[in-house]
Amino acid sequence: MRQTELKKILKEVYGHDDFRFDQLAIIESVLDKKDTIAIMPTGGGKSVCYQVPALYSKGVTIVVSPLISLMEDQVRNLSENGIASCYLNSEQSYEQKQEAKQMLLSGEVKIVYISPEGLLSAGSLGFLQELDISLIAIDEAHCVSQWGHEFRNDYRRLGELKETFPSASFLALTATADHKTRVDIARQLKMQNENMFVSSFDRPNITYEIHEREDELKQLDAFIKDKHQYDTGIVYCLSRKKVERITDELKKLGHDAYAYHAGMSSAQKKKTQKKFNMHENVIVVATIAFGMGIDRPDVRFVAHLDLPKSIEAYYQETGRAGRDGEKSSAWMVYGLQDTMKLSMMIESSEASEEYKKIAKFKLDAMLSLCETSSCRRQYLLSYFEQKSEACNNCDTCLYPVEKVDATVDAQKLLSSIFRTGQSFGAGHVIDVLRGSKNNKVLQKGHDKLSVYGIGSDKDKKYWSSLLRQLLSESFVQINNWEYRSLGLNEKSKILLTKQDNFFMRKQKVVVPKKTMKNISESHEHGELFEKLRTLRMEIAKEHQVPPYIIFGDKTLHDMCQILPRDKSEFLLVSGVGQSKLERYGDEFLNEIRLYLD
Ligand code: ADP
Ligand code: ZN
Repeated sequence: MRQTELKKILKEVYGHDDFRFDQLAIIESVLDKKDTIAIMPTGGGKSVCYQVPALYSKGVTIVVSPLISLMEDQVRNLSENGIASCYLNSEQSYEQKQEAKQMLLSGEVKIVYISPEGLLSAGSLGFLQELDISLIAIDEAHCVSQWGHEFRNDYRRLGELKETFPSASFLALTATADHKTRVDIARQLKMQNENMFVSSFDRPNITYEIHEREDELKQLDAFIKDKHQYDTGIVYCLSRKKVERITDELKKLGHDAYAYHAGMSSAQKKKTQKKFNMHENVIVVATIAFGMGIDRPDVRFVAHLDLPKSIEAYYQETGRAGRDGEKSSAWMVYGLQDTMKLSMMIESSEASEEYKKIAKFKLDAMLSLCETSSCRRQYLLSYFEQKSEACNNCDTCLYPVEKVDATVDAQKLLSSIFRTGQSFGAGHVIDVLRGSKNNKVLQKGHDKLSVYGIGSDKDKKYWSSLLRQLLSESFVQINNWEYRSLGLNEKSKILLTKQDNFFMRKQKVVVPKKTMKNISESHEHGELFEKLRTLRMEIAKEHQVPPYIIFGDKTLHDMCQILPRDKSEFLLVSGVGQSKLERYGDEFLNEIRLYLD
C-alpha cells in the first residue's frame, strides 16, 4: 500500500518507473522513523531518498547541504518537476529569507535546504523549531568525520540536532565512506540503532584509464580528440599555475577551455561555472576547488593531470563523470614526481603525526591503484570492501599489462641506492646507474663506485618506472622526506639476497585507441539526438537554465529509442514526469514527428 503510493510519487514527479539501489528500503526506513545512513555512489539518486519521504509525509524536511550553488540547483530541479521548495542561506537578503520562512510557515513548501552553519545559527534554529519537522537529511555526511577525507568544521556540531528535534527522522547521505568513516558518522550524529544501507560503489558506465605521464598535454589532447570530441569534461590539476597553463594550451589546440581555481575572483569563477552549466562541449580545467557544486549529470569525462591524494578523492572526483548513467571516462596520467610532491606536502604540513600517517597510507593506496597490473575497478571496489570480478572496462582489462622479470635490474637499482649512501633522490641514483658525467656525480666521486654505469643499457624512463614500482610495493622507502632521499629496508634485503623475484609492468608501446563506443551508437538515431539536443539548448537559453535541467542526455536517448508519437507515449520516456510533459512535451514530440516524417 505504502510502496504503491511511493512508486506513484516517483513516476508522477520524476518520471522514473522504479526505485533503484536501496532507494525504497532507505525511504521506508526513514518513514519508520529509524536513524538511517545511506551510502550510495554519485549519481545513484540520493535526492530521491529524502525528497520522496518529504512529499509523502506531513511536516517539513530539512536538507543540510554544504554549498549554496548546490541548493539553488536542487530547488530549481524540483521546481521543474512541479514541486515548490526553498532554501535559507547567507547570500539571501533579509526579504528573501522572510519570504522563504513565510512559505514554510504556511505549509506551501515542505522541503528547505540549509547550510550547516545556517542551521545551527540561533535565528534559524528558533524558527525551525516552530515548524513540524519530520525529517532531517544530511547530505555529504562524510564531512562530519575526521576519517572522511573532507572533514568540515561547520559539520561538527550537527550532532546537537538530535536533541533539538527529537521527533524527526535522521538520514545521513554520502557517496564515499569506508568502514571507519561510516561508524564515525553514526557516532558524530549521535544516531542509535541506525539502519545502514551500502549500495554498490561500482560505476559500470565509467571506463577507467591510467597512463604513465610522457607528454601530458599531447596525451590529453589525443584522448579528448579521440573519444570526447563533442563532450563536456573536467581536467583536474594540482596547482593554480598549472590550471592556467593547461587552459591556455588547450585553447591553442582548439578546445573551448576555461580555468577555475580558488585564486580567481568570484566574478571569474562564476563565469566559468556558468559556461560549464549552460553550454555543451566545454572543458573546465580546475583545481579541486571545482567540486561539490557540480551537479551537471552529463559530464562525459574527468581527466587528472596530477595524482589525487587518496582513493576516496579519486573516486569522488572521477564520480563526477556520467552521473546520468551514460558511457563516460575517467582518465589519468601520473609520474613519480606526483608521489614525491604529495608526500612532501603531507610531511611539511602542520598536521599531527597520526594524521600524517593516515594521509601517507591513503597516498600509498592511490599509487598502488596506478601501478596495479590487474583490474582497476576491482582494486577500487576492494578498497571500499566490495568484491567484484574483472570488469573488462578499464585499461588493464582491455589491454592486459605484460610483466617481465626485472629482478636483476631491481638489484642494480637497490645497490646504487646503497652504494651512494642512502641519502640521494631518484635523479642522482639513476644518473650514477647510467654512468652520467654530470657535476654532482663527479663532485661526489660517485663515478668511482662499482655501480657506476652498470645500468647504461636502459634509459631514464625505464629506471624511473622500475623505481616507482619498487616504491609502490615497498621494496624501497623514502628516508628523508625533505630531500626525498631513497633508502633500503627489510624487503629490499630479500630482493638483494635473491630470496624473491621482482616482476615489473612491461612498458606499453602503443597507446590504446577507441576503447569505447560513442554514446549515440546505442540507438540508430544519432541525427535525431543532435536535433533534440539543439532543441533542448534553445529552450534552455530561453528559460535561462542549464540544458540538463530541461532533460538529461539519458532522457534524450530514450526518446530516440522509444520514438513517442503522442503524450501518453511520451510519458513512457525515462525522466519524463507530469510536469515536464506539460512544459516541453509538445515541442519535443513535434521535433520527433518531423524527423520520422
Ligand atoms: P546523487 O546520488 O549523486 O545525489 P541524484 O539524486 O542527483 O544523485 O540523481 C542522479 C540521477 O539519477 C538524476 O538524473 C536522477 O533523475 C536519476 N535517478 C534517481 N533515481 C532514479 C531512479 N529510481 N530511476 C532512474 N533514474 C533515477
Ligand atoms: Zn577492469
